[in-house]
Amino acid sequence: MIYRTDYHMHSTFSDGRSAPEDYISPALACGLSEIGFSEHLTLYKDLEDWNMNPVNISSYINHIETLRDNTNNIKIRTGLEVDFFEGKEVEMQAYLCSLPLDYIIGSVHYLGEKTVDAGPEFYEGKSIDRLFESYFDSVSAAAASGIFDIIGHCDLIRIFGYRPSCDPEPLYRKLANIMKTHNVVFELNTNGRNRPVADFYPDRKFLNIFREENVPVCVNSDAHMPARVGQYFDEAYELLRYVGFTEMAVFDKRVRNLVPF
Ligand SMILES: [Zn+2]
Ligand SMILES: [Zn+2]
Repeated sequence: MIYRTDYHMHSTFSDGRSAPEDYISPALACGLSEIGFSEHLTLYKDLEDWNMNPVNISSYINHIETLRDNTNNIKIRTGLEVDFFEGKEVEMQAYLCSLPLDYIIGSVHYLGEKTVDAGPEFYEGKSIDRLFESYFDSVSAAAASGIFDIIGHCDLIRIFGYRPSCDPEPLYRKLANIMKTHNVVFELNTNGRNRPVADFYPDRKFLNIFREENVPVCVNSDAHMPARVGQYFDEAYELLRYVGFTEMAVFDKRVRNLVPF
């Protein structure tokens, strides 16, 4: 059986629809060998309803650890999806390092005070070129921060289908180079298929750049409900193989290994 993982899933500890337990049978049904939970954690901002309250971190970690100890047929990992904010690197690193996690996904949802994925109105009246540049700058800073193991949906700014006026290839090239330099993994996030952009993150046109820069990959569903665990994974792995990837990153207590797929 091909070894497959899904490290990006949200349960009711943040904005997912079901308890962690409910994700196990669908994961087994689609042949996954490991799953990991990655609840939203946004520090330094007022708590929003899609985020886990930081006071619940310990109960979340304990819950996933108990689930792991009581589950034999699939490996269960504990992760977080943490919002990156430039200028907060030292505090973030100190706090996150103290947590017993298997991996940390660093994501950029906010540009300024607003999130780029809440609705298309965020984009109205703004320079799309400048938004793409700012988004990639922030994701690059996240990759260079050394805080994260995986960078989440690295071009989420595509979500509503807005495109810059010039070819964004140099933005991807620069980002992939920074990811390689700072030894961080990118995810092929299949959830973009369920969003207005209707395709994976990152843009499949630029996947070859991550391959050429030798950035390790993992495939994640970003499932917010059990039915979406491992969704579109056959297509995702086929695409990665086509581009030339042969291995994917796996994590245990923040140690990364590569396994063939
Ligand atoms: Zn996200
Ligand atoms: Zn997510």
